[in-house]
Amino acid sequence: MVVENLAEVERRVCAACERSGRDRDEVTLIAVSKTKPISMIEELLPGKTRDFGENKVQELCEKYEQLPKDIRWHLIGHLQRNKVKYVVGKACLIHSVDSLRLAEAISEEAVKKQCDVPVLIEVNVAGEESKFGVSMEETEALVRKIAKLPAISVRGLMTIAPFVENPEENRRHFSNLKKLCVDLKRKNIDNVSMSVLSMGMTGDYEVAIEEGVRISLSLSMRISI
Ligand SMILES: *Cc1c(COP(=O)(O)O)cnc(C)c1O
Repeated sequence: MVVENLAEVERRVCAACERSGRDRDEVTLIAVSKTKPISMIEELLPGKTRDFGENKVQELCEKYEQLPKDIRWHLIGHLQRNKVKYVVGKACLIHSVDSLRLAEAISEEAVKKQCDVPVLIEVNVAGEESKFGVSMEETEALVRKIAKLPAISVRGLMTIAPFVENPEENRRHFSNLKKLCVDLKRKNIDNVSMSVLSMGMTGDYEVAIEEGVRISLSLSMRISI
C-alpha cells in the first residue's frame, strides 16, 4: 500500500515539475513517517526514498538506531532546547528553528560534538496564533544573529501553511516565502546559503512546487506516507 501511495505522489510531483518547467531533481520529497511503524519505512527502502521526516525527537532517535544509516532524517516538528543534545548528529536537517535561544543551544551542542548542523528557519507565513515560527518581518534579523554562531548554518526557510480546503488559498503564502528566501539569498550573508525552501504538505504540495521551484533553490515537500 505505502509503496503504491508514494508512487502516485511521485507521479504528481513529476507532473507539477513539468507544468512549471522544472527539473524533478530540484525537488526533494520528504516522506513524513511520524507515528508510522518501522516496518512501513522498511517497505520503502528498496526504492529511492531516503529522506524521512519526524516531528518528535524521541521517535526520530529510535528509528535512527533501528534503520540503515544511509537514511536522511529530517526533524520537522517543534524542538525544545532540552532535546537538542539527542538530535544533533542524527538529523541531517532541522527544519524548525524559530528562536535565537534554540539556535544557541544547537550551536553549543554542535561545537561539543565537532559537527556542523544545517538548519532552516520556521516562518509563520500567515501569522497564525496557533503556529510556531517567526513572522516574515522578523526573519532577516534572526537569520543574521544565527549566522554569527559557530557550527550551525542556515540553509533556508520552512513553513507550515494554513490548513485549507482549497490548496490555491496557500499559493500566495508559498510565493511570499520564496520571495523572502530569494531576497535573503541576494544579501549574501556569511554562513547563510538560503538554498532550501521546505514548504508544501500532503494537501498542497503541487501548488508549492509551482510556486517554489527556482534555479539554485531546492524545494522540500513534506508528505505523509
Ligand atoms: C505531520 C507533518 C507533515 C505532514 O502532514 P500532512 O498534513 O499529512 O501533510 C508535514 N509537515 C510537518 C511539519 C508535519 O508535522
